[in-house]
Amino acid sequence: MTTEQQATDWTRRDLLATGARVVGAGLVSGGLSGLAPRASAAGQTDDKQMPVIDAHSHIWTREIDKYPLAKGITLQDLAPASFTTEELLAKMQAHDVDRCVLIAHNIFYGFDNQYMIDAAAAHPGTFRIVGMVDDALPHPDMEMKRLLPHGVTGFRIVPSRRGAQWLSNPGMQRMWRCAAETRQAICCLINPENLSEVDKQCERFPDTPVVIDHFARIGIDGTFREADLKNLCRLARHQQTTVKISAYYALGKKRPPHLEMLPIIKRLYEAFGASRLMWASDSPYQLVGENNYGASIDLVRNRVDFVTPAERKWLLGGTADRVYFFEL
Ligand SMILES: [Zn+2]
Repeated sequence: MTTEQQATDWTRRDLLATGARVVGAGLVSGGLSGLAPRASAAGQTDDKQMPVIDAHSHIWTREIDKYPLAKGITLQDLAPASFTTEELLAKMQAHDVDRCVLIAHNIFYGFDNQYMIDAAAAHPGTFRIVGMVDDALPHPDMEMKRLLPHGVTGFRIVPSRRGAQWLSNPGMQRMWRCAAETRQAICCLINPENLSEVDKQCERFPDTPVVIDHFARIGIDGTFREADLKNLCRLARHQQTTVKISAYYALGKKRPPHLEMLPIIKRLYEAFGASRLMWASDSPYQLVGENNYGASIDLVRNRVDFVTPAERKWLLGGTADRVYFFEL
């Protein structure tokens, strides 16, 4: 059996398991919405109303009196010089993107999520936020709950901060447990070598929604390694795990039209299904040099040729809508 066949098989089994879980969860909670991926419904429902959502962009401003930068960071460090809420909205409008998930930028803002929170408040319904909390705090879970009403429906985690203990420390364990309850997604900015430890953590916390950023950065050195792809696709057996198909400027040939990403996206589609993948630009980094916003969304909107029209809507917004834009 080839790897792809195995991956497809996992998907089928996952779908059956998903169905069973939704019914079971519905019985106790009295509701079905968003408890598990609606993968089995993709392609069968009327998806005309699905919004187009950029699942990943950063914003920053030069208004440092109002939004101070992290310790040691100055205006000279901001590159591009600014990417404000308004600059992001202009990009989205030019490319018929309805909504966006704002992602914390730890280097510029530390654990201060305020600029994103103010953007979400100023544009109701347009933004959700993936914030950052300090897992070294005794109770990062309390901070997660405090932030939820502000539209913070996910939290970014990165391996570099806590060494080998980055997933097993008590604060991080609390975060994963809390996320299973609040539905706030744990969003992993990881490299291929972190996939197996994330896999184990998903086993320990099967109900925690998990998002893998940027294909786990497979292809960052220009090579897409089979072993890495296999490890990423293995995560598909965890029902609550989704992957961002994003950051093309950083992967493969790192320049438009990004066609070398298509077989990688297809591989993930076969493992996860369209309703567990989400397109994202990773602006403003996708806007530097010859890379641009249009080339990013064009790849999924026009170049992906192996999905149904309904599945394309999941890639372009349906999945992000389910994962991040649930009712607060
Ligand atoms: Zn990013």
